[in-house]
Amino acid sequence: MDAKNTLSGGCLCGRFRYLLLEKPIGINDCHCVDCRRASAAAVVRWGTIHAGNFEVVSGELKKVSYADRVRSFATCCGSPILFQVPQDPEWVDVTIVSLDDPSPYRPEMIIWTEDRLPWVMLDPETPSYAQKKTQCPLVPSCSNVERANHRPGPNPIRIESHDCSAKSAGAS
Ligand SMILES: [Zn+2]
Ligand SMILES: [Zn+2]
Repeated sequence: MDAKNTLSGGCLCGRFRYLLLEKPIGINDCHCVDCRRASAAAVVRWGTIHAGNFEVVSGELKKVSYADRVRSFATCCGSPILFQVPQDPEWVDVTIVSLDDPSPYRPEMIIWTEDRLPWVMLDPETPSYAQKKTQCPLVPSCSNVERANHRPGPNPIRIESHDCSAKSAGAS
């Protein structure tokens, strides 16, 4: 592991510490009501990494299942750290703002704006979506991308592994 590619982060009190062994992709600001309530924040910024590239350095996470998604919080002080869709165990989303230096991670997209609180202003330069980003990069009529997830993200495996031709016709 190249130390230059390792990012560190942690919780409010510092007992829970983690490393990301790769740079997160698909940086998004999620306005969905579940993320809001889970974080008591108006917006939550997420980035995606391979689950195997999340490494706990100290402390523990408490997993909370809700709406078929698993959110993980630092047991010590409750900071939200991870988000995972059980059907998609290869990937995990990390709260970008729990990184020690979140400053390089501008959002690539804004999602679930239909849940947006009226006083949260959106950056017009950043693509935004009422819910998730639904357009498949391979087949525009395909709506199977991110089928189980409320977040889009240029997720190479998810995009390449789904079968557009077989599934797009009947998808709604
Ligand atoms: Zn803590
Ligand atoms: Zn969300």
